[in-house]
Amino acid sequence: MPELPEVLTISRDLKKEALGKKISKVATFANYKLDPSNEYFNNYVVGSTVKDVSNVAKLITIKLSSEKYIATHLNMTGRLLYNTEDPYIKIRLDFDSGDYLNYSSVRMFGYFEVWDKEKLEKYKGGYAKTAIDKDLTLEDFIQGLKKRNSLIKQNLLDQKLVSGIGNIYANDALYMSKINPKRKTHTISNSEYKSLFENVQKIINEGIEHRGSTIDRYADLYGKPGSHQNYFRIYGKKNHKCKDCGTQITFEKVQGRGTFYCPTCQKENITPSLF
Ligand SMILES: [Zn+2]
Repeated sequence: MPELPEVLTISRDLKKEALGKKISKVATFANYKLDPSNEYFNNYVVGSTVKDVSNVAKLITIKLSSEKYIATHLNMTGRLLYNTEDPYIKIRLDFDSGDYLNYSSVRMFGYFEVWDKEKLEKYKGGYAKTAIDKDLTLEDFIQGLKKRNSLIKQNLLDQKLVSGIGNIYANDALYMSKINPKRKTHTISNSEYKSLFENVQKIINEGIEHRGSTIDRYADLYGKPGSHQNYFRIYGKKNHKCKDCGTQITFEKVQGRGTFYCPTCQKENITPSLF
């Protein structure tokens, strides 16, 4: 599933390509139904100019001169493709420059809709600041994660506490900081949180530099895969040995999500004397 680095790779490229361009036509394929309606797209999308492209966590938003927003969530299998085709195109926007943007989806879990500002603001209210937000302080990060004394990995993935950290990057950041994913948030020291904060930011920024991770169907705006999957620290490394200590990596489901950790480097029970 695309996580924040993948979403940012797409939204930043789309901003570069589409900013200031006028949408001249909307077409749908495979009986795709526009949401809220064809009429709404005709009224607010066709003839509008792209004013901005941004994101709220994993939601990509395209601000239009009609004061409405295209809001698209790629979920598991969605793609936004610029001047690029694939076999699963559902919506195509043509720009008056001759360029076009396709929304592709294999399984229909994602969406590509038009929202008004009120709906977008309501959606924003459900998300905390992202882990790479410039105004997010270490203190905010710690307080967010400690709001509930639950498993650290579960809280890292909770977008209401701190947003933008998906399963891949959570596994790798916890490994880099030598924190067991099943530790309760209140047992983690401030220095461990500091390390986690730095590693979360480091790994998300690396993911962006590598233009995302392709392990399923993710492709960038031009249909090209990312390369960050070649740089995973522990994610997906079931049956591998830990690079630091040689112990076999443990894989288990934690709260239903695939979790990888080194039982030696990331001890589950920390003796109180360490605090
Ligand atoms: Zn180890």
